[in-house]
Amino acid sequence: MKLIMLGAPGAGKGTQAKKIAAKYQIPHISTGDIFRSNIKAGTELGMKAKSYMDQGQLVPDEVTIGMLLDRISQDDSKNGYVLDGFPRTIPQAESLTAALSDRGEKIDYAVNVDVPDENIVNRMSGRRACVGCGATYHIVYNAPKKEAICDVCGEKLILRDDDQPETVQKRLTVYHDQTQPLIDYYNKEGILVEVDGTQDMEQVFQDIVKVLGA
Ligand code: ADP
Ligand code: AMP
Repeated sequence: MKLIMLGAPGAGKGTQAKKIAAKYQIPHISTGDIFRSNIKAGTELGMKAKSYMDQGQLVPDEVTIGMLLDRISQDDSKNGYVLDGFPRTIPQAESLTAALSDRGEKIDYAVNVDVPDENIVNRMSGRRACVGCGATYHIVYNAPKKEAICDVCGEKLILRDDDQPETVQKRLTVYHDQTQPLIDYYNKEGILVEVDGTQDMEQVFQDIVKVLGA
């Protein structure tokens, strides 16, 4: 099964993608996570991405598309994957459709996790990310067992730089301008699934599973 998660920053794409990956035994591929691990490792790709990410802008398509297409060519992606944070622009979606179609493949569903802007700032300001393994929490809705410590690896939890309220506003504007048009793109392709992302995490997941199948 090949899936795309759509939705505003902070809508819960990563939260749901992890649950989907575990249930259907497919890799969770997050372009944001790939960029962050490159920044941490100090690679050239990471250096290119960092300034855009810090400003709440998108990393250019020339960098992002090749990286994602390489990632889904790896062996573990043969039986499918759940893409989280890609595509974010129409050219990214078109490149993905074309690359898959060259191999006789296609995306099965694009799941749009719908959350209005007024809930997003609250979601993002409460998000905490682990500096070690990248696991994410929310200080109210998904709190770690020990304050500011990752349940999974014991490392420190931080507020990401790009989750600061000023950057979140910018990311929302970028989302509406460049990413929201993908909802229409995948609707026209006939594979759009809409879920109400304001419900609790488990209910959102159940709504997704209803469509994907048990
Ligand atoms: P995205 O991947 O879309 O940027 P995340 O999955 O990281 O978003 O979720 C953003 C924040 O909101 C995280 O702190 C997460 O724990 C929290 N969150 C995710 N889904 C829900 C939900 N259904 N209800 C409340 N909080 C949620
Ligand atoms: P995320 O972890 O998905 O919230 O992504 C964090 C940041 O990484 C975004 O705000 C962008 O700067 C960058 N990024 C992630 N995925 C993409 C993408 N598909 N295209 C462009 N930039 C991206």
